[in-house]
Amino acid sequence: GEIPVPQTKFRASRQVRGALWSWAVPTQHENPKLVGVCPSGAQLLGLTSDDFWRDPLVAAAVWSGNLRLSGSHPWAHCYGGHQFGVWADQLGDGRAISLGQVNGSWEVQLKGAGRTPYSRFADGYAVRRSSVREYLAAEHMCALGVPTSRSLSLVFTDRVVEREEPELGAVVTRLAPSWVRFGSFELPASRGDFSLVRKLADYVIRHHFAELAFDGSGVYIQLLQAVVERTAAMVAAWQAAGFCHGVMNTDNMSVLGLTIDYGPYAFLDAYDPDFICNHSDPAGRYAFSEQPRVALWNLVKLAGPLSRLVGQNPDEDASPETLEAITKALNSFGAMFSSKYAELMRRKLGLASENDSDDMATVVQPLLDLLERGHTDYPFAMRALCDVPLLLARNDTMGLDQHIDALAARSDCTRVSKEWRDDMRTFFVDVYGPRLTKQEGVIDEGSALALGVGMRLANPRHVLRNWVAQDIIDRGDSDAASIDQALELLTTHAFDDAVPEHLKAMAERYAGPVPKWGEGLQCSELC
Ligand code: AMP
Ligand code: MG
Ligand code: MG
Repeated sequence: GEIPVPQTKFRASRQVRGALWSWAVPTQHENPKLVGVCPSGAQLLGLTSDDFWRDPLVAAAVWSGNLRLSGSHPWAHCYGGHQFGVWADQLGDGRAISLGQVNGSWEVQLKGAGRTPYSRFADGYAVRRSSVREYLAAEHMCALGVPTSRSLSLVFTDRVVEREEPELGAVVTRLAPSWVRFGSFELPASRGDFSLVRKLADYVIRHHFAELAFDGSGVYIQLLQAVVERTAAMVAAWQAAGFCHGVMNTDNMSVLGLTIDYGPYAFLDAYDPDFICNHSDPAGRYAFSEQPRVALWNLVKLAGPLSRLVGQNPDEDASPETLEAITKALNSFGAMFSSKYAELMRRKLGLASENDSDDMATVVQPLLDLLERGHTDYPFAMRALCDVPLLLARNDTMGLDQHIDALAARSDCTRVSKEWRDDMRTFFVDVYGPRLTKQEGVIDEGSALALGVGMRLANPRHVLRNWVAQDIIDRGDSDAASIDQALELLTTHAFDDAVPEHLKAMAERYAGPVPKWGEGLQCSELC
């Protein structure tokens, strides 16, 4: 049945104890309109996008939450979290509603479908711009090889949503094997309800970590170890891709090591470790280079609840042996992160791993230092690097100078001096070139071309930069089809120089320099 939603705009949140979720009913939306369907997202559920477009009105009704699928009993998750380092107590899904689990493998969730028992003071809605951003980002990240939630569909509504200014509403449907977060464990633990923590841990292990052996309470250490590994791999992929999440609160950390809750995220334009994408984070707690450290901080918060499940009595502090095992699992984060990050960066630079274990210090970091000095465009510089092996093989000094000019043109002009150019040339000729020669024997044109082909698969040409997202949002207002065109460009063709005719104009524009208006765009959390 329907759960009546009180009309009061501001309510204190009711504490939901002894439960990990509550039933929730989507609110009816005015004029839902199907705007986008992700073909590969649909495929995950055994559907095609045609299944949606055949009757777009019905699809819009279903994927806005207006029409309930038979057998679906929607719910909202209950969780807490540390927000910006401070314990925030109960949060929960305030605007996300799960419709069900498909084939036991994908939990289908509407975002922006209205208030839930966890909405607190907020309205439960999402605006179009933030929904377009999430819809595109998840699929783009997947195409880039970053562990992530997925997108299924995007629906626009005519609901007026009050933000800094009134905006129109949207519902994005997203998919993950599970939406359980670090904060899902923290909340019951904060209330001393360790039997609920154990229930959740057992559920997560049984359904998502079936490879772990259920041989006594040591399994909870194994679970922590597995989450450490997945989180390290995820953040390594972020750093290599130049992705900044922006709100790494523990309630936004998936226990499956998936990127979730796309809000004020950004891909780097200029390579700047201090870059902050979240307008609401002036201190830079979640600045780009802080992400690995913060991930570990968050894992420590997950370790607390799990440590209480090891041994007999959860009311007692963990034993020295348990603490030692927990510490060991947490300490493995650093090495896991570093080796994964090195592996990804080696691929981007075309360096075979068996040849030199010192690559990070001797090749990768010097390149990143140069990009940082120039505030050089990171995706552009890495894509352009794919051409460098051939220039080196041909001893093409003029071509190399032109290459450095192109990098300078995509840098902060106040930061690129003659000295910077000389250092860049020295890096290519005296550091990068010899390293490639070492692995290739001699670097001839054939091996350089082959290297370039491999590198192009690790350095995307089309990246969902902030200005690109904003441009797609602006176009989408009048031309909804452009959103799915952008999706096609940023997924199927993310690594392609040549794209189909209907995407050519868009591709050229988005691969070009960041326009003045798009420099330093920041998003606030008020999406
Ligand atoms: P976030 O950091 O954006 O993931 O959100 C933090 C908490 O605020 C989560 O519990 C969200 O469900 C909740 N929240 C964010 N926006 C809204 C909204 N418009 N309505 C209700 N809850 C919201
Ligand atoms: Mg969240
Ligand atoms: Mg958010």
